Formats: sequence, structure tokens, C-alpha cells
Amino acid sequence: MTESATAIDFDQQDIAIVGGGMSGMLAALVLARDGHRVTVYERDDTDLPATADEAFDRWDRRGAPHARQSHALLARLRRILRDRAPDVLDELLAQGATEISVERILPPDIDDREPRPGDDDLALLCCRRLTIEWVLRRAVTAEPGVTWRGGLGVAGLLAEGTDVRGLRLEDGTTVTADLVVVGGGRNSPVLDWIAALGGSVQPVEEQSEAGIVYLSRFYRLRDGQELPLLTKDGAGGDLGYVAFAGFYGDNRTFSITFGVPTGDRDLMALRDADAWEAAIRTLKPLEPWTADGLAEPITDVESMARLKNRVRRFVVDGEPVATGLVVIGDAALATNPWYGKGCSLAGIAAEELSNALAEHGRDRVALAHAMDASVRTELEPHYTVAVRQDADRIKLHGAMRDGSEPDAMAAATRDFVLTGLLPASRTDADVFRAFFRSFNMLDAPDALLRDEKVMTAAFAAHAKKDERPPAPTLGPDRDEFLAVMAGATPR
Ligand SMILES: Cc1cc2nc3c(=O)[nH]c(=O)nc-3n(C[C@H](O)[C@H](O)[C@H](O)COP(=O)(O)OP(=O)(O)OC[C@H]3O[C@@H](n4cnc5c(N)ncnc54)[C@H](O)[C@@H]3O)c2cc1C
Repeated sequence: MTESATAIDFDQQDIAIVGGGMSGMLAALVLARDGHRVTVYERDDTDLPATADEAFDRWDRRGAPHARQSHALLARLRRILRDRAPDVLDELLAQGATEISVERILPPDIDDREPRPGDDDLALLCCRRLTIEWVLRRAVTAEPGVTWRGGLGVAGLLAEGTDVRGLRLEDGTTVTADLVVVGGGRNSPVLDWIAALGGSVQPVEEQSEAGIVYLSRFYRLRDGQELPLLTKDGAGGDLGYVAFAGFYGDNRTFSITFGVPTGDRDLMALRDADAWEAAIRTLKPLEPWTADGLAEPITDVESMARLKNRVRRFVVDGEPVATGLVVIGDAALATNPWYGKGCSLAGIAAEELSNALAEHGRDRVALAHAMDASVRTELEPHYTVAVRQDADRIKLHGAMRDGSEPDAMAAATRDFVLTGLLPASRTDADVFRAFFRSFNMLDAPDALLRDEKVMTAAFAAHAKKDERPPAPTLGPDRDEFLAVMAGATPR
């Protein structure tokens, strides 16, 4: 087939996307580059700042209130950008984002430092969430096939029965589209919109508590100071009663984040900046991040609660709840932010939608089924593992708080990870890579446990756990941690 015949045969559709956050923009970019005409409706009405730093300082993104929280951008998202929009990845790096490749962070005790096939995929992206949003916004709005309608909220769906044909906007007007994609984020009222269509089948929703409050504070390095690359101790840890992590940013910024168990009111003292500054200085792995004179804070301590794992299914008992409608991003499936999966899940959904449209075109029923199948196979396994990990952790925290016997299974799993899998990953190049691939969503979540080499090494390390010196203490016990916060003085 000639090139011009391919172009003529291509079935270009008018696609309306609700929400210009991570999922809406990734979908807009991919679908416009596939050749579709895309219109993005984004309620936030804000001019595009001139620089990434201005975006962080001033961009009013009230529609995405978590945009100034720490974000880790996993290798899966980087691979999607590299494969689908390499120019956008290049621009992100030009704007100050960095990549942490596997060879740069191979633990020092691994002797075999030879590169492996596939290492090209193994790199995390380090930047602030608003930097990637800003770069994506510039790329999406410059895309010839995209119309950006900022300051226009969507109020509901325009439909014939349950066949969606467009959108009702908050200004009272309506617009038609061949396909509506909803990426309105975790508070999207899309279920109400679907209910208003009056269909006989309604979406099914499953949700559970993430069990943490997420607290972040951002810093900028002072002139002449540098943050070292990951040290032997890593850049985070779990003290049992609280988890913490350091995040590399862009343009000489970084952030520190705590995951405080929901309901632990004492630990919420971390919201006080002086208490926070005293607390982070007790954490051994973060010593290089908290050295005197290294950096100054550029935000207050920001906290975010009511975090959930949640999945919604839009094909129920074999029947789509609506046709001409696809729901993506957090509006469809969200996981505990501690695992850093959300932006990668948004990228996967954009890719899956691109593939489903290429295969099914205007067959709206087939499209609904294809998207349902890809949610189940490509996205839900990541949700399922998040739910299980959170349930185990919530049980352990509960036992710790009331002094009861911890759930045996949850305790055994934690012990195996801490004294088997993790030590093995610090000494074996292949186990480290397998761990990195799993953590970064490059493999299915169960691939690690199915990998014979990994399991053999992990069981061997676990069997020898008593022969190793005790793991270094990462920080104080809870009482001391609270006392340090209580005694904090302004810095
Ligand atoms: C505290 C926290 C930390 C996180 N950390 C990470 C991390 O480390 N790594 C990671 O990958 N993910 C992380 N995530 C998850 C990630 O931020 C989300 O998965 C991602 O933002 C989802 O993109 P989205 O497009 O679905 O929603 P959002 O990015 O929230 O965007 C939704 C957009 O829709 C717009 N909108 C909503 N309703 C309407 C309407 N009716 N009309 C028009 N526009 C509308 C909003 O204004 C907004 O711009 C974190 C989340 C939280 C809460």
C-alpha cells in the first residue's frame, strides 16, 4: 500500500478529552500523533508559565491539588515517552529533568557491572510533577491535531441513551465528538455522569484505604552544593511506624516525603515545619540530603489524606455501561501514591487506547470491550498488588499500635522481602535488575516472584539472614522520633 493510500484510509476521529492533567495530556499527545483530531477541555483557567520554576512557584493547578507533592516517574512512563514521543522526553531533559539509569545505581557490593541487553529501558525520570506537566502542556498545545480549551469545565455527557455523542459544558453549551475520553482525575464525577444516562447496567467500583497520609516538602540546593547520587543506604526506608523517601527533582530541587499511617495523630506533628526539619535529620539514609547548608526549603510541608486504591469497571456482566466513552487515569484506576505508579498507569492507558482505536476504529462496542480487557490485563495487576501490600501494612501498623500479635502472613512476607529479596538484590546484578524492572512497572507485578533465579537468590539470602550483621538502623524508634519533634526549635 502506498503512503498516500494509508493516509486516505486512516479513519480520523474527533476525540473530546475531559481533563488536561497527566492522563488527558498523555492521551491527547498519543492520539493526535496517531492522526486523530483531539480537543482537550480543562477546567483550570491559567496561562502557561514561562519556565519550569515559574510553573512550580506560581502555576495555579487547583484541579490537581497533588501537583506539588513528590512524584517519582517510573521507567515505564519514560519508556512510553521514549517510544511514543521522544522529542517530549528530550525536551523534559533539556528543561532540567534527569535520568537515573540502572548502571548509575548498581549497589556497590555488586561486582559484575557489565551492561545487559535491555538496560536501555532501565531508567527513572527525576523531576517535579509540575515540570513534566508544563513540558507536556507545551507539547500538547503545540501539536497540530490538538485544540486546547482551557477554563472550560465539563458538566456531563451528551448521549443518545447510553451511546455517548459529546459533552455538556459548564457554560451551558454542548459539543459533539466521535469519542469522549474522561481523564478528570480522582475526584471526577464520571460515575454520576454515567448514572444520569439511565442505563440498565452501571459501573462497578471497588476501593480500599491506602492507609497513609502523604507529606512532602521541597528544597533547592544552595549555590555550590550538590546532592550525591543514591548512596549505599538508598534514599528512603521504612521505620515500621513511618516510611520516608527522598526524591530527586529538576533544576537543583529535591523533596522529602513521609507516608504516615492514617490515624497516627502524634506523627502528624510532621506538618509543623520545625518538627519536620528536626525529624528528617534523624534519618540515616537521608544524611546526605539533610546536611547543614546543603539546601533551603522552597515549600511548606504539604499533606494529602483520604488516599485510596480504587478501580472502576465499565463493562459489567459482559455489557458496556456506555459506548463512545472511555475513562482513563485516576478516574478509572488509582493506587496508593507511595508506589509511584499513577503517571505510568496514565501512560499505559493512553497507549492502550491508541492500540484499541487502531484495531477497532468506530466499532464502539468492540472499543469498550478492548479497553476493559486492557484495564484487566495491563492495569489491574498493579492495582491488585497495591491493595495487598496496603492491607498487609495496615494490619502490621494496627498490631504495632495496639500491641497485639501481628498477622503471621503479613509479617512473614515483610520478613522475606527485608531479609531475603532486598539483600539478594544488593549483591546480584540480575536480581537487582529484576527488582528494578518490577518496581518500575516494566514487568508484570508477579514476574519477580515467578523468576526462578530471583527466588533462588532471595531464599538463599533469607536462609543466611542470621549470619549477616544486623541491618543498619535507619532512624530512631517512634518515641524518640516524637521526642525529637516535640523538642524542635526554629532553624
Ligand atoms: C499525594 C500524591 C502523590 C503522588 N505521587 C505519584 C508519584 O510519585 N508517581 C506517580 O506516577 N504518580 C503519583 N501520583 C498519582 C498521579 O499524580 C496521578 O495518578 C495522576 O495525576 C493521574 O492523572 P489524571 O489525569 O487522571 O488526573 P489529574 O492529573 O489529577 O488531572 C485531572 C485534570 O482534570 C481536570 N478536570 C477535572 N474535572 C474536570 C471537568 N469536569 N472539566 C474539565 N476539567 C476537569 C482537572 O482540573 C485536572 O487538570 C500521586 C498522587 C498523589 C495524590
